[in-house]
Amino acid sequence: LVGRGGRVAAAVVERMRAVISAREDELGRLDAVAGDGDHGRGMVRGLTAASLAAAEAHQAGGGAGAVLAAAGKGFDDTAGGASGALWGAMLRTVGQTVAAADHLDTATLHRGLAEALDAVMRLGRAKPGDKTMLDALAPFVTALGEQAQAGVALAEAWAAALPAAERGTAATADLAARRGRSAALAERSLGTPDPGATSLTYCLASVAEVLAE
Ligand code: ADP
Ligand code: MG
Ligand code: MG
Repeated sequence: LVGRGGRVAAAVVERMRAVISAREDELGRLDAVAGDGDHGRGMVRGLTAASLAAAEAHQAGGGAGAVLAAAGKGFDDTAGGASGALWGAMLRTVGQTVAAADHLDTATLHRGLAEALDAVMRLGRAKPGDKTMLDALAPFVTALGEQAQAGVALAEAWAAALPAAERGTAATADLAARRGRSAALAERSLGTPDPGATSLTYCLASVAEVLAE
């Protein structure tokens, strides 16, 4: 995967853009329940810029780390909203870890995502259980770490960890929002899954699709 890392990373970001574009209205409706309804629009805007920046970095000969870092910057510059800055940081952090690693394997991606989780928690001051994207990301990172420990190869490991993110996202329906815009109408958010956890899980599923190809 090292040699073709830049191409795979650019393909991953483009797949996220396509999948989230198809879910734009659904994500907007989820965000309208207790938030301002712009989550689908913001994610599409961010991922469109991210995918363009990723393709450019790949064309310029960048490896996976450089491609993901460029995607993060593109996301940051355009998405706006609470999720924009957090997604930008997440992509840039994974990019930095991958760029510094010799192998683009399960252990490297786990380390990168664990650092991204820390970065998002530091920036957003939220914890798992606050009904945010962390409720998808944290269980996914734990599950991917178990796969890395067991020595499972990346595509298989990612697919095996994905249900943890899906369960975490589904469980946010039972939580009241404690962070972000929806916290103001926390009770109203009960019964609806968190939009940011939902979109993150679609993005993690997009990665699984590309890795399986
Ligand atoms: P905004 O709330 O600014 O309109 P979005 O609608 O794009 O931004 O994103 C909302 C999502 O952002 C939420 O569903 C939640 O998952 C995530 N989010 C909001 N605040 C935080 C935070 N402090 N930490 C982590 N995620 C957060
Ligand atoms: Mg919103
Ligand atoms: Mg907004």
